[in-house]
Amino acid sequence: MLWLLAAAGCEYTCGEEAIDVEFVPESLRTKIGCDTTLRLTFSPIEATDSKHLITIDAPIVRSLVDDLNATQTVGRAVPSHQPESVRDVSQRLFDEYTVDGGSVHLGGCTLEDRPILRVTYVDRSIGKARLCHHFINLTGEPIEESLVERLGLKQLVPLSRSIQVTDDQCVRWRHVGETAVEGLQQSAEVEVVLTTVVWCKYAEGKLAFVIKDATTSIAFSDWAQLFVDGSTKPPALACPSFPQGSCHLAATDDGEIVPIEAIATCSESGKRVIASDLETCNATGAKALPEFFSSCPASGVRVLRKVLVTCETCQQSVSPTSCELSQCSACRSLANVSKDDPRMARLLGEYPRLDRWSRWKLSETATAYVLVANSLVKRLLVVVDKNDLKLLRLAKGSQFTKKWTEALELDRSADLR
Ligand SMILES: [Zn+2]
Repeated sequence: MLWLLAAAGCEYTCGEEAIDVEFVPESLRTKIGCDTTLRLTFSPIEATDSKHLITIDAPIVRSLVDDLNATQTVGRAVPSHQPESVRDVSQRLFDEYTVDGGSVHLGGCTLEDRPILRVTYVDRSIGKARLCHHFINLTGEPIEESLVERLGLKQLVPLSRSIQVTDDQCVRWRHVGETAVEGLQQSAEVEVVLTTVVWCKYAEGKLAFVIKDATTSIAFSDWAQLFVDGSTKPPALACPSFPQGSCHLAATDDGEIVPIEAIATCSESGKRVIASDLETCNATGAKALPEFFSSCPASGVRVLRKVLVTCETCQQSVSPTSCELSQCSACRSLANVSKDDPRMARLLGEYPRLDRWSRWKLSETATAYVLVANSLVKRLLVVVDKNDLKLLRLAKGSQFTKKWTEALELDRSADLR
């Protein structure tokens, strides 16, 4: 009612039991049959004239509505409380973020008036006349009740600014409103009284984050009022390492701004990097950059290079987790091999004198063959590179001891070629 009076150009004060209209525009006075002032009461006992009692069907209410429909096609209103400036929204957004060693500012923001339609209708289907409001978007879809509450659509004031709308547009909106209510309740007892376009502020923009030389930005958009009352949180920054996102941001040493939860420190270099860029050492559990890692040739696991140990048999650098009694898993699992084995054939091709031995046992790592040749009394250990069959170790032993003695340079040709 107050909105209707204000929209018609009246000035008033509203008490608990009555509205005192202190000024009625001249054009309205004859239509509603009153003087320059008017008292409207909510109580039938106090009303001295049926015109001055506020009910849905009161002649004065009808006159005001008819006048508005005739002159403006649709009513125009705004929520009584909503953000009016970008600043109202931006400060609220900034407060949500913590930027370690940096700052957040607006990288552009617009506050646009977007229309929502309020269709006012009288429902007489339950006997007593009831005045209802139905809120819809421009395509006639209903606005959720919770959004109606949060946008303050139940406390409207007349639009004081001018927003350019064509007459055609107003007619279309009125039609959308009437159709929506018809779809809601098809009854002869439902009468659409008025469609009002409510202009709500919609915020759209980008937040820019700066930490030293690093920058990044996030786009945001929603009803401005929802950002201000906190029911819409500004978007969190996400990255593949922390897809759920966070509003607490920090920069890596390489100058990338990410959620702080996505940052970890390399145990070797002390560098702050994206956590997913770090590898975990299979032996110690430490997390470091891949450049500090090696693959164990015996077991294939990745370990920090500094924790590698030397296998006493093949003398390769292997993970401590694959070593037992100073022997790697390959050297512990030598298996009998015949000349038909393609690996053995390769070895005999390169080192034909190995053929003089009666039995061989072979094993391999990712990079080397480990071969032990046996005779009745003696043993020979041959470790060669798998790629080029280059000799890595040649040692001699006997069947009576596990010890190996390095072969002299002289023995190399005698034993192998
Ligand atoms: Zn070994």
